[in-house]
Amino acid sequence: MSDTTPEKHVFQAEIQQLLDLVVHSLYTDKEIFLRELISNASDAMEKLRHVEATEKNVHQPELPLEIHITTDEEAKTLTIADHGIGMGHDELVKNLGTIAHSGTKAFLKSIHEGTAAPANMIGQFGVGFYSAFMVSDKVCVHSRSWHADSAELMWTSDGKSSYEIEESPGLDRGTKIVMHLKEDCTQYATESRIKHLIETYSNFVGFPILLNGKRVNEVEALWLKNKSAINDEQYKAFYQFACKAFDEPCYRLHFSADAPLAIHALVFAPTENPERMGFSKVDCGVALYSSKVLIDASPEDLLPDWMRFMKGVVDSADLPLNISRETMQDSALMRKLGSVISKRVIRMFEKESEADPAKYRTFYRKFERFFKEGVATDFANREALAKLLRFESSLTEAGTVCGFTDYVSRMKDGQDAIYYLVGPGREQINSSPYLEAFKTRGLEVIYFTDAIDEYVVESLGTFDGKKLVSVRHGGVELEDQATTGETLTEDLTSALCAFLKAELGDRVLSVASGKRLVENPVIALVPANALSPHMRQMMKAMDENFKDEVKVELEINPRHPLIRKLAAAKDDNPDLARLVACQLLDNALIAAGLLEDARDTVSRMNTLMEKALGTA
Ligand code: ADP
Ligand code: MG
Repeated sequence: MSDTTPEKHVFQAEIQQLLDLVVHSLYTDKEIFLRELISNASDAMEKLRHVEATEKNVHQPELPLEIHITTDEEAKTLTIADHGIGMGHDELVKNLGTIAHSGTKAFLKSIHEGTAAPANMIGQFGVGFYSAFMVSDKVCVHSRSWHADSAELMWTSDGKSSYEIEESPGLDRGTKIVMHLKEDCTQYATESRIKHLIETYSNFVGFPILLNGKRVNEVEALWLKNKSAINDEQYKAFYQFACKAFDEPCYRLHFSADAPLAIHALVFAPTENPERMGFSKVDCGVALYSSKVLIDASPEDLLPDWMRFMKGVVDSADLPLNISRETMQDSALMRKLGSVISKRVIRMFEKESEADPAKYRTFYRKFERFFKEGVATDFANREALAKLLRFESSLTEAGTVCGFTDYVSRMKDGQDAIYYLVGPGREQINSSPYLEAFKTRGLEVIYFTDAIDEYVVESLGTFDGKKLVSVRHGGVELEDQATTGETLTEDLTSALCAFLKAELGDRVLSVASGKRLVENPVIALVPANALSPHMRQMMKAMDENFKDEVKVELEINPRHPLIRKLAAAKDDNPDLARLVACQLLDNALIAAGLLEDARDTVSRMNTLMEKALGTA
């Protein structure tokens, strides 16, 4: 800017909308604005510390990294100043006038849908700065960036539709925000009120906070302290402030190790899933420090991606301070660190699930997707993660769950595989003809009901050395079961099988008599490499030309009256026997969710009914 006339800018439309909501709709929890501004000041100083590690010409390197808060009851102002990285002209425009991230849109959406507790969550969406307008008529942001030749600027707005930027000579590096409080918010110009708020929300800021010149917070790296010296309240406060969380921590893991690496870690599992309905994928929430200095608030390559919902701090004195993103990616040190932490986290979940299964169940309902994603993608931790999965089975009550470990402990003598069936829900699976043979033999079958389960089990393949086998698949060897009642002779059975194969031709891979069935006359078994009904549906949804005719192995039940009668009818009444043969296959395909086109089925059914009623 060459002259001293203020430069006027209009807020981006979404920001205007956001401001309107902030000012007019969010009346509760107004006080959170302070936490947001302190958090921004702290972020700016963390960033400066990082810049200092890599750049030489930082303006005024001698300035202390502190947050200064000043109250002025007479002028009805509250001022928050930091010596962080500051902002230049373009940064002021970008950071305080436009949507820098997708956060604003998500925030507006959630308010409209009434899904969020808005004021309290404003920071979660990366729009925390605007909360200043909940309590101010006018906000002035004085800022000077860390670059040696940076301008000294002031950004001013009444939070309506526009803001101005002008020169503001005499600034030190960093940002000073002066809030002109609204008439009904003058309480925030009193020292005692602000002191209380800092103590409530911001005790764990990693920089000294001075209120009217007096130090208020304790700066401590909680993760370096001894567990026995920390109470639940302190952990919670740390979680909420340092990890920028808005819920209660559900589980926590706090440990230190010396070998093979010097590690101090304090990580939390949240209560609420940050990616629940409508929220996008979150960035890793575990920050990386080296001896109390932040290296990366969201290191991409430290922990496996599925652990991104975890929050906390990992501090390793073995890490060099100026480690760059590139070297982080392929550093053996990082891999080692990540591996130690992820193993400890998984073990923590395992222990917690044993200690309080009901609590774990509630947690699991919200977070199962992450664990499943882990099983499918995190090869190193696959088996350990599989232990964390929960599901219903043919032996559990509806609504009660168990894990693979429980399943294995209940396996029958001689059983060498883990059986499962994927379906939309317990009821549907329960009535599946596939289950019959396993139920009568007392073999437990796992019920997988989540759309991604299929993919997850396939990636897992085995658990504890036992193969995971779908009960839909052919080729499962089951022990003989004593049969009662009449049954076809072996000769008649093989003659019937031959007749059926000749009639059904290409539509079936084979026809054989089997031991699986009790109640049903036939069952359609699927080759182990065929897609499941669910996968087929997905493929079809993605590609309208998708064609995949599944050829099934038809198993017949020689004890079933219908089959016994059919054996006779194929000689006495071949026309009718043919119709029945085709209909049996269609019925089996319907039960298996594999019938593609029901037109023939319906007309054949009508013919059969006419015959039964004697009209044809
Ligand atoms: P978030 O902190 O989640 O990015 P905010 O709305 O709180 O969202 O802040 C928007 C942006 O404004 C920040 O990302 C940062 O770039 C900039 N900013 C805010 N306060 C400061 C500050 N005190 N010093 C430097 N930059 C700041
Ligand atoms: Mg912020």
